[in-house]
Amino acid sequence: MSEPDRRIWLDGRFVPWGEARVHVLSHSMARGSLVFDYMSVHTSDRGAAIFRLDDHVARFLQSCALVGLPLAHDAESLREACQAAVRENAGARVVKLNAFLPSIEVDVVPVDEHVAVAVAAYDPWLDVSARKDPPPARPPATVRLWLEKEQRQRRPDIMHPHAKVAANYASPMVAKWRARKRGFDDVLLVDQQGMLAEGPTTNFFLVDGDGTIRTPPEQSVLLGVTRRSILDIAEAEGRKVVEERISPDALWVASEAFLTGTSAGVWPVASVDERPIGRTCPGPASLALGERFRRITSGQDPAFAHWLTPVDEAAAGA
Ligand code: PMP
Repeated sequence: MSEPDRRIWLDGRFVPWGEARVHVLSHSMARGSLVFDYMSVHTSDRGAAIFRLDDHVARFLQSCALVGLPLAHDAESLREACQAAVRENAGARVVKLNAFLPSIEVDVVPVDEHVAVAVAAYDPWLDVSARKDPPPARPPATVRLWLEKEQRQRRPDIMHPHAKVAANYASPMVAKWRARKRGFDDVLLVDQQGMLAEGPTTNFFLVDGDGTIRTPPEQSVLLGVTRRSILDIAEAEGRKVVEERISPDALWVASEAFLTGTSAGVWPVASVDERPIGRTCPGPASLALGERFRRITSGQDPAFAHWLTPVDEAAAGA
């Protein structure tokens, strides 16, 4: 099958998709030291625009700092690279920003500290999934979760949960893979004390009977850009929002639950361990917040228009 007709920004120049390669023995492959961020691209009346670009770049820099990667780029040059990658790749729906150690190393500490940066802008469905034979099923509209009881997924004493580093995804992968084989769509992870944390690539929210929206606190989860957005939107709408530790038992008395993420948007939780959550799914808060979030990302909500950064700021008059 032919490769996508895409060009990837690699250390300041564009290379064809198939040429953006690293050696199988590279440090980032061997030690899981790749740091990344992942953001969405939307069509707005100001042209193609990236959702909360500056927040994603800031999180990427924070991840690099937590892992200790000596990155040679600042926020402004990374921001421009993301915009250039989208301009270069018409129809892109996401941007993946990566920092990695491409050199072949013997020790866990690299001798060659050059950190390469790659920025890929593409359509995950057309450029990746649809090229599989057979293509994977699209995610369902509501999610059936497995509650992972093992308390080894989110361990701030091992690697900070705020670091979006490949190594942090190994144990959630094990949990989710097992859950998928048992017929579940995704997993809900707990922290070291057994309190609810997040999914492998999503944050978690719960809605109480009185409409209060609760989500686990920042210390135990990745600082999701969608999580922050939903908290901001809910607050602007006058909803009560609380960031606090949540016991798994709260699931069984909640009226709604949902996951959030760049790929997932607002993803209503139908059940956990085959026990339905609330009376209806999607519930009213999940539906309303999901719909508002979709309007905002497509540039149809003036109150949050500043969350979209056009990739061609001069043409957009920004
Ligand atoms: N938690 C983890 C561990 C993630 O990898 C992601 C995806 N980046 C999220 C939460 C959701 O974050 P965002 O809303 O920024 O996509």
